Amino acid sequence: MNLIIAEKNLSAARIAQILAARERVAQKKDGPISVYTFGDTAVVGLKGHVVEVDFVEGYADWRSEERTPRSLIDAPTTKVPTEKKIIGTIQRLAKQASRVIIATDFDTEGELIGKETFDLVRQVNKSVPILRARFSAITPPEITAAFTSPTELDFALASAGEARQVIDLVWGASLTRFISLAAKRGGKNILSVGRVQSPTLAMIVDREKEIEEFTSQKYWMLSLTTEKAGQEFPARHEVARFDDRSLADAALARTKPPLRVTEVKEGEKVERPPSPFDTTGFLVAAGRLGFSAPNAMRVAEDLYMNGFISYPRTDNTVYPPSLALDGVLRTLESTEFGELALWVREHRRPSPTRGKKISTDHPPIHPTGAGRREVLGDERWKIYELVVRRFLATLSPDARWSTVKVLLDAGGEPYVATGARLVAPGWRKVYPYRKAEDNLLPPLSAGEELPLKDVLLEEKETQPPPRYSQSRLILEMERLGLGTKSTRHEVIAKLLQRRYVEGNPLRPTLVGRAVVESLEKHAATITQPDMTSRLDSDMQEIKAKKQTRDGVVTESRQMLHQVFDQLEAHGDEIGKEIMGRTDEERTIGPCPACGGDLRIRQMGPGGQFIGCSRYPECSFNINLPSPMWGKAIKTSDVCGEHSLSHIRLIRKGARPWEIGCPLCSHISSNREALLLIPHVTEEILGRLAAKHIYTVTDLSRMSPESLAAVASIPPEDAKQLLAGASDVLVLLRRRSELRKFVRAHLPPKRGRSQSGIVKILYSQGINDIRALASADPALLVDAGMKEAEAETLQREARALCGDRALREAGVPAASLKKYREAGITSPEDFCFLHPAYLSTKTGLSLETVYRHVEMVCKTMGVNPPARITKDTLQEGRAGLLSLGGMDEATLEKLYRAGIVNIAGLRKAEAPALAAATGIPVERVRQLIAASLARRGKG
Ligand SMILES: [Zn+2]
Ligand SMILES: [Zn+2]
Repeated sequence: MNLIIAEKNLSAARIAQILAARERVAQKKDGPISVYTFGDTAVVGLKGHVVEVDFVEGYADWRSEERTPRSLIDAPTTKVPTEKKIIGTIQRLAKQASRVIIATDFDTEGELIGKETFDLVRQVNKSVPILRARFSAITPPEITAAFTSPTELDFALASAGEARQVIDLVWGASLTRFISLAAKRGGKNILSVGRVQSPTLAMIVDREKEIEEFTSQKYWMLSLTTEKAGQEFPARHEVARFDDRSLADAALARTKPPLRVTEVKEGEKVERPPSPFDTTGFLVAAGRLGFSAPNAMRVAEDLYMNGFISYPRTDNTVYPPSLALDGVLRTLESTEFGELALWVREHRRPSPTRGKKISTDHPPIHPTGAGRREVLGDERWKIYELVVRRFLATLSPDARWSTVKVLLDAGGEPYVATGARLVAPGWRKVYPYRKAEDNLLPPLSAGEELPLKDVLLEEKETQPPPRYSQSRLILEMERLGLGTKSTRHEVIAKLLQRRYVEGNPLRPTLVGRAVVESLEKHAATITQPDMTSRLDSDMQEIKAKKQTRDGVVTESRQMLHQVFDQLEAHGDEIGKEIMGRTDEERTIGPCPACGGDLRIRQMGPGGQFIGCSRYPECSFNINLPSPMWGKAIKTSDVCGEHSLSHIRLIRKGARPWEIGCPLCSHISSNREALLLIPHVTEEILGRLAAKHIYTVTDLSRMSPESLAAVASIPPEDAKQLLAGASDVLVLLRRRSELRKFVRAHLPPKRGRSQSGIVKILYSQGINDIRALASADPALLVDAGMKEAEAETLQREARALCGDRALREAGVPAASLKKYREAGITSPEDFCFLHPAYLSTKTGLSLETVYRHVEMVCKTMGVNPPARITKDTLQEGRAGLLSLGGMDEATLEKLYRAGIVNIAGLRKAEAPALAAATGIPVERVRQLIAASLARRGKG
């Protein structure tokens, strides 16, 4: 059997489809893993890496005395499986395989994944030939060619990848651990440091500092407006920028009519089309269309896997001779770019444009399949269109402009006007992403005199350098050799995720800054790109077999030891610096109660709130929604009234929740509750607020004396108010329970808010779950529920209340579960159903059931039933079963109605018993008759 292993499930499916040609591909499931088979071939997809480099066991404890962060530098590493199910499937198939072809992506990462796969296959099959298929597009010609003549794995290339993996692990883990420990950060708040990540962050921080330190310079620009044949046009002074105001003023004063044309220079400008897309160029262009780098990459990968474009991770900007450009154009003819493709074919430039970088692994990104807008959807279509148009542009003729430069003279001052006209659009016809605007001048000739309409002196300021946009940053990382084409956008995503940077363009957060500044001060190696570009050249040498993987890793470990020499000498200082800065990040402004600092505080994973830095002396605090709604961060807005930074909750994949000023929000959300207290007036609220008492809880903690003083009310009224407050607290607790209950049981629906429904319930006097259970269903429907929903909700509410009452009565949880499973849920069931029935249904002993029934009856104020013994019950049961046609099901129904022996049956009235048991009345009559007959006999 042939086994083909692709990098992802999606590519496995497509490769199988292409290689099977007209044969049918069967998709079988091995657990969750799809295996595609045809003829004698099976194709399986990986999930990228299925193993990961990690330290051997024993290095997990961050606080271990002997396994310090530094000890990680030389810690042995191993590969651990991360996708056990996939590995299982592959090894099971590999055992029976007569040939294995590795068809992972064609780059260093893909080769490394291939090598990992190679090792997994070898673990179970020592002799099977393992080959490698390389292709740059998942299209029939490429795939067929690659599999017709497969080659060998490139072990040197894979080694280079392995070296990077180990070095990244060692640097990242040891430094992250060191810095996090120094700054006393753990759990989700660790401060990550990384080989590529930290220099990249440093670039963003450094740029921010440049912007802050920038002092703008004033300069002046002088221009005039003139006119010919009804067309106004501007001309600027030949000195484009005056740095000296007095010189500009003097030039302005001399600018006087007549304004005369001294020379007209006509020319032509040729604009070459852009060069083919490599990854970086592509990301920059996609960025201009509004795609973030990670998003553009995700969409491009999707298009690649579905055969629409070639492999999007490439450094190449020169089409290789083997790429059939005509074939690509033909493919495009069937798309909505058909006409453009034909135009390009007719006007094709002698040779396509080429960029500066040539590499042999992949061609530049180009279309490989015919895409349709309806099929691809908006997002994928935009990226596909960009790749298609770029490809067409690289084959298109130059754009030609005719230009004109007019020199003018006004009172001896030289001015210039320029114009341009697009004569032949060339590539601009197919690539509309760069604007081309004609700037036409009227026909002019030397010696001509023009009216001087207006002279303008503008004062300008030099601008600071701009912040990095994601795509700009990727370009800069590339220039500095930071990261690889496949990792750059991931590094940026990680910086955002770690909250080291925010926004686009990217700004560092205080934590991001604190980490970089501290590292720059104490261990600059980590933040400088030199070390990384050094590693990149080492990796090239491994690929070229001039160095070994182990040699490079050892060298990098030595370098890291030197870094640790510096770091360890300043551990305390680094910790203090970072902690000081990050306190700042959490501090939102003055405490209204004591003037200390209010800070955002996280209590483990369960909660977050705003508290005072002077706690425990000052206990002022404001609750925040649970972190499940998002992590609280401060924004740059500040409340005018309270001088507190606004709060925003951020959660991955969700729109941020703007809380605004936390104190304003605290006050308004508690006002309603305070007004529930009888006799509370606006006036009293105002006086309380002046003393920073904003909640019912705050109020209830006051003594009657201090409340009387603060609210200026008689002590008697204060006592009454406090009693009212404690009632309201109870009400609020019950309401909050009701709110949670409704949230949990009523499915969210578009156009209906759960909290809206709950508010209506409150207004109808339904303030807790018990009231909900016994409410008129019509009220619930009025509040916005469907009838069926109201029914379910009430059933759940009744079950919950019953459960609670039973537990309070003392029924143990384990037994409660059995009752519940038997459908016995309410205290009433215990009081009015026969214990015999409860015992048979639950399997609990009669003795136990009686005990429970007595407990429940007591709390319900009902007399418990007289006990019967187990033997009596057995006797009665035997008697009943001896009646003709009696069976267990009928017996159970009789128990339910409280009939446990023949004597009971004799006393029963047929219609009532039929109604209570659901047994047909005729049958009941027969049973009663049979029981009466028994008396005759015995
Ligand atoms: Zn305080
Ligand atoms: Zn406020």
